[in-house]
Amino acid sequence: MSKPESTTPAHFLRQIVQADLDAGKHARIVTRFPPEPNGYLHIGHAKSICLNFGLAGEFGGDCHLRFDDTNPTKEEQEYIDAIKQDVEWLGFEWSGAVRHASDYFEQLHAWAIELIKAGKAYVCELTPEQAREYRGSLTEPGKNSPFRERSVEDNLDQFARMTSGEFADGAKVLRAKIDMAAPNINLRDPIIYRIRHAHHHQTGDTWCVYPSYDFTHGQSDAIEGITHSICTLEFEDHRPLYEWFLDNLPVPCKPRQYEFARLNLNYTVTSKRKLKQLVDEGHVDGWDDPRMSTISAFRRRGYTPAAIREFCERIGVTRSDGVVDMGVLEFCIRDDLDANAPRAMCVLRPLKVVISNYPEGQVENLELPRHPKQDMGVRVLPFSREIYIDRDDFMIDPPKGYKRLEPGGEVRLRGSYVIRADEAITDADGNIVELRCSYDPDTLGKNPEGRKVKGVIHWVPGADSVECEVRLYDRLFKTANPDKGEEGGSFLDNINPESLVVLSGCRAEPSLAQASLDERFQFEREGYFCLDSKDSSAARPVFNRTVTLRDSWGG
Ligand code: ATP
Ligand code: MG
Repeated sequence: MSKPESTTPAHFLRQIVQADLDAGKHARIVTRFPPEPNGYLHIGHAKSICLNFGLAGEFGGDCHLRFDDTNPTKEEQEYIDAIKQDVEWLGFEWSGAVRHASDYFEQLHAWAIELIKAGKAYVCELTPEQAREYRGSLTEPGKNSPFRERSVEDNLDQFARMTSGEFADGAKVLRAKIDMAAPNINLRDPIIYRIRHAHHHQTGDTWCVYPSYDFTHGQSDAIEGITHSICTLEFEDHRPLYEWFLDNLPVPCKPRQYEFARLNLNYTVTSKRKLKQLVDEGHVDGWDDPRMSTISAFRRRGYTPAAIREFCERIGVTRSDGVVDMGVLEFCIRDDLDANAPRAMCVLRPLKVVISNYPEGQVENLELPRHPKQDMGVRVLPFSREIYIDRDDFMIDPPKGYKRLEPGGEVRLRGSYVIRADEAITDADGNIVELRCSYDPDTLGKNPEGRKVKGVIHWVPGADSVECEVRLYDRLFKTANPDKGEEGGSFLDNINPESLVVLSGCRAEPSLAQASLDERFQFEREGYFCLDSKDSSAARPVFNRTVTLRDSWGG
């Protein structure tokens, strides 16, 4: 019986698993991650993935990937492929083949017939409106359906005809016969099969009746020998039904369901329906738009799997709902990138600087460390007469305490010389188009004697720097709780109009021409960046800002 390797605190599910192993209840635990392939995975799913795969990993068990695919009209192969990619990218490996609830349709159908034979299921022909009326409410018991007392033979015949395609969608349903007066509404004769003449991405046109989620989930768990079936709190009220099916069917084992609080993150939405709406209505550039809360968006934006896993660990697993601050996720990303991302320089708003006293045609190849703490080698920056600095690093009339360049003032160029601003060249409209500076040849790697240089700014070489586009991403929503809009408004009204700022004509240091898609960089003084996997090319590199250097949201 292995103990968790990590020193991380034992949240309640770790404790339960540990206790079950200690008590010999299971020799080996089996968990599962059961996404419905009706959209891309988001950060909430990452929490569930880290939990399910994490527990199996820590305790030497198995975790299955099972597509919960009982709703063919909303599901697609594209989503299946994306989900598999996301789980693998997060660093997890499922045990055995990818599984599907649809793999068990034959068995589930046979079990439905068993229930009918045992007098525990019946075909009901109430319309959806009537069914709602018969269901009762939280305070009122329901009423028995007039079809509840059909004979076993009649039910078997009706269900066979439902299955063979004789009836239209919604004409009849198969319901479990439990208790219309049960205080838990989920037990008031829930639907277990419905008619849906729809092509299924896995089973094709084999079926025109499909089992409900509740009739599928627990039985699939049982078929797979799942020991701990972990889901979010909204399924707590379904647990009695989950157990009713396991108690009333000849299943091979009885898994137990445990619930935990779902992850809610402020400044974003974590609902596949809303994320899909953002995509379908063109508010974002696809499911992997770097502003989305999907795993594929995080990947494109430059978040690392390790940082996402650390975030999921840090927020913990509890049974009380809450909202996690986006700043916590951003902190984890920064923390990882600060330690592991090589440094580079990129000028976002280039201003040409001519160093008048630097010899024409001379080039010095300056070597700068790629990381201040880790040994990642060096990068080479050719220094010559023409360079670029950022427009924002020069001001003609700066405020007090300005530490950058001003007329007659001095500044150090990172890893290079101290320069002095001699003259600003302006165009007809008074815009500064070029700066004339002079450098002090005695200041390479040391400070000028007896002079104080206020600041250090970043720069890139004039000739060899790489022209690129930079996309500055910010939070997609401008309010912490996007769902709480103005009176009558929707989350769409709270989209942050500055969530994407595109800068073209930026200039990156030459070493960045060799950047690969899986690298992230700290652009000094600007934040962390990576190449955009969709739009970047050698001819026109595009960098995404992964995260700023500091929390600018005051969190
Ligand atoms: P959504 O609410 O976004 O539509 P869902 O719950 O319908 O999500 P599923 O594909 O059914 O999505 O979810 C797969 C697993 O991920 C389930 O076990 C579910 O409980 C879990 N999960 C979904 N959202 C979250 C979340 N925000 N936090 C933690 N776990 C989640
Ligand atoms: Mg779901």
